[in-house]
Amino acid sequence: MSNIIDGKGLANTIKEEIAVEVAKIRDAGGKIPHLAAVLVGEDAASQVYVRNKVRSCEQVGFESTMIRKDISTTEEELLEIVAELNNDDEIDGFIVQLPLPKHINEEKITLAIDPRKDVDGFHPANFGRMAQGLPAYLPATPFGIMQMLDRYDIDVEGKECVVLGRSNIVGTPISILLSRKARPGNATVSLCHSRTKDLKSHTLRADIIIAALGIPEFLTADMVKEGVVIIDVGINRVDDENAKRGYRLTGDVKYDEVAAKASYITPVPGGVGPMTVTSLLMNTLKSCRGEVYGK
Ligand code: NAD
Repeated sequence: MSNIIDGKGLANTIKEEIAVEVAKIRDAGGKIPHLAAVLVGEDAASQVYVRNKVRSCEQVGFESTMIRKDISTTEEELLEIVAELNNDDEIDGFIVQLPLPKHINEEKITLAIDPRKDVDGFHPANFGRMAQGLPAYLPATPFGIMQMLDRYDIDVEGKECVVLGRSNIVGTPISILLSRKARPGNATVSLCHSRTKDLKSHTLRADIIIAALGIPEFLTADMVKEGVVIIDVGINRVDDENAKRGYRLTGDVKYDEVAAKASYITPVPGGVGPMTVTSLLMNTLKSCRGEVYGK
C-alpha cells in the first residue's frame, strides 16, 4: 500500500513556517513582504487561482495588492501596469495571471516583468539562472514538487526519473531541477513527450514518475513498476453526472490502480496543486530579503 503525499497538509505547514518568519520581520520593524497580482478578464479558473493567492498572502501576514482589469484592457495598458509595478519599491514581487486575453501577447508581458520581481519564475533570466544552478525564483509547480520530495525525504539521487510532458511551466523545468547537482537532485532524467516512442518502456523502468501531460488517467498500473514514486501534476475536468458541479477533477494518473503499486503517490486534488501557492509565497519572501538578486 502506498504512502499518500499530502500536498494540502504540507502547504499548510510551510505557510505556518512563513507566517513565523513574517512575524519575526514585523517584530524587528522590517519591511513586510508584498505581493501584487494582476488579473485581466473574467476567466473563471483564473479568478479562483488569484483569489487563492491573495487569501494565502493574508494567511501568512503578507501585504497583497490585487489589480483587476477588464477584458478590453490593451497590451499597452498592461505593459504600463507592469512598468509601474517594476518601479514600485513597495512591491517585492508580482504575477500577471495567465492565460491573458488573445489580443495580448503573453510572451511580451512575461519579458517586460523585471526578473527581480518575477516571483512566478517565468522570465527567461530566472529560467536560465535555474538551469545553471544559480540563485533564482523557481517556477511555482516544479518548486512545489521539489519541496514535496524534500520534505517527504524521498531519495532522488541516482534514481531513474521519467517526466511526462515538456511544457515550459512544468515538464521542462522539473526535468532540469531533478538532474541538477543539488539536493534533492542528481537523478537520471528522461523527458518524455508526445513524440516519444514506446513510452511504456520508459515508465516501466522509472523509480519516480512526474506526470504532467493533461490527459485524464493516462498512466495506468501496467505502465509502472512496483514501488514507484508518483507525482501527478495533471488537473483535468471530467464530466460526471453524479458530481454537484457536473464534473470532477482527475489527475493524469489512474489513481486507485497505480496507488496499489506505488510507494508514494500524490492525490488530485490535494497533491501538487496546493504547493504552487506556497512556492509563490516563498519566492516573495526571498525577494523581500534580497536572497536571489541582493538588496
Ligand atoms: P501542456 O498542456 O502545455 O503540455 C502537455 C505536454 O504533454 C506536452 O509537452 C506534450 O508533448 C505532452 N504530451 C501530450 N500527449 C502526450 C502523450 N500521449 N505522451 C507523452 N506526452 C504527451 O502541459 P502543462 O501546462 O504542463 O499541463 C499539464 C497538466 O498539468 C494539465 O492537466 C494542467 O492542468 C496541469 N497543471 C497543474 C498544475 C498544478 O498546480 N498542479 C500547474 C500547471 C499545470
